[in-house]
Amino acid sequence: MEMWFTEKQTENVGITCKTGKTIHMEKTEYQDLALIDTLQFGKMLVLDGTVQTTEKDEFIYHEMITHVPLFTHPNPKKVLVIGGGDGGTIREILKHPSVEKAVLVEIDNKVVEVSKKYLPTISCSLDDSRVSVLIEDGIKYVQNNKNEFDVIMVDSTDPVGPAVGLFAVDFYQAIYQALKEDGLFVAQTESPFYNNSLISNVYRDIQSVFPITQLYLCSIPTYPSGLWSFTMGSKKYHPLTVEQSNKAEIDTKYYTKEIHKSAFSLPKFVEDLLK
Ligand code: SAM
Repeated sequence: MEMWFTEKQTENVGITCKTGKTIHMEKTEYQDLALIDTLQFGKMLVLDGTVQTTEKDEFIYHEMITHVPLFTHPNPKKVLVIGGGDGGTIREILKHPSVEKAVLVEIDNKVVEVSKKYLPTISCSLDDSRVSVLIEDGIKYVQNNKNEFDVIMVDSTDPVGPAVGLFAVDFYQAIYQALKEDGLFVAQTESPFYNNSLISNVYRDIQSVFPITQLYLCSIPTYPSGLWSFTMGSKKYHPLTVEQSNKAEIDTKYYTKEIHKSAFSLPKFVEDLLK
């Protein structure tokens, strides 16, 4: 018998994949967690029915949330990830030789546990000596740390449940305080096709806190509409006037110096969301 998994992405649209077996399923303190084997994308991590990451296309999201900010900052040493319990963002961060310390603050220890057990190619750097994994609410963590980090990445779920507060202006103010005086941050900010009012609001809120605010895009097959956005707030460094020639070459599959620039070229309908 053929088995298919569908993520209902909007009221009227879904993405459907043929699946093998369901490897793991549980209700955690925060969300429904499933690890499913798919024929096209390999193993897939699903939270509350929403695809978080898959073995085949995870590199796009993880490289783009990581390398754009880390190549914008001239010398990132201390980096914070909020969410991101699968470990993919941490794996990419550690490719940067300047990074001395990476802190991951994930609210749900089950996401970390299941990723370590079943997604080794994604979670492989979580036990590195430069990494601290803290199981707590990222909002509280950011409020309690001032002037600490060079770069912060908000690798969150969609704005539901514990992630609602990660899309709020007071969170961006707390991030500003948690960053050093030349720090910068990036948040995943959903699909410009389906989440247009969220993107307009988030962009306006980040712009009200940071002197430099820039949105960039990439294509992710398993995310709603395939077109995905990230928004950067920066105190000093602009992602398009960055000097990359003195940076080490790192091993990537999606990110290049050219993609770093072109990702900020926006279709007209996306530019219009930011006015
Ligand atoms: N790449 C993914 C995407 O966009 O679908 C996100 C991946 S990662 C699995 C998202 C993580 O954010 C989840 O594991 C979730 O538990 C965590 N999270 C949600 N709200 C949080 C909060 N307030 N503090 C820390 N982590 C949070």
